[in-house]
Amino acid sequence: MNTKTDVGGQREDRCPCGTGRRYPDCCGPFVDDGIPAPTAEELMRSRYTAYALRRPEHLLRTWHPSTRPEDLVLDRGWVWEGLEVVGREGGQVDDDEGVVEFRARWRQDPNPAAGIPRLATRYPTSGVMNERSLFRRRGGRWMYLSADDVPAPDSGPTRVHA
Ligand SMILES: [Zn+2]
Repeated sequence: MNTKTDVGGQREDRCPCGTGRRYPDCCGPFVDDGIPAPTAEELMRSRYTAYALRRPEHLLRTWHPSTRPEDLVLDRGWVWEGLEVVGREGGQVDDDEGVVEFRARWRQDPNPAAGIPRLATRYPTSGVMNERSLFRRRGGRWMYLSADDVPAPDSGPTRVHA
């Protein structure tokens, strides 16, 4: 199965991570070719893109062995709709550790053909994940280590248009 064809369906081939760049000029080399991301933020963006394009191999490859799951199955009904990086500490080319805070918009695709069970209506079917991810360099490569949820501020981030 050639998962790269997923990219062709994206609007104007823009990278899902929201830089406005084309996928081959943005996260493509990290996700498709395993090129090491130079900064923690670029790795974070490429991992978001891997979730959006359902490329678990990139997620596992860039997951620190101390916290990496054995396997990763990405729910086909879980759609990632946009990424906003809202903060960063360290994580530069000369650092060994970095934190990236981001907000990622998601929705559940109600299409049963995609294998999604009907959700009880009391659950939200869209929202925003606000997270601080910790990255650590290992063998010269940035790796995802762990994450903390960020408590939602009073208004903004949970307002998502349908
Ligand atoms: Zn990208």
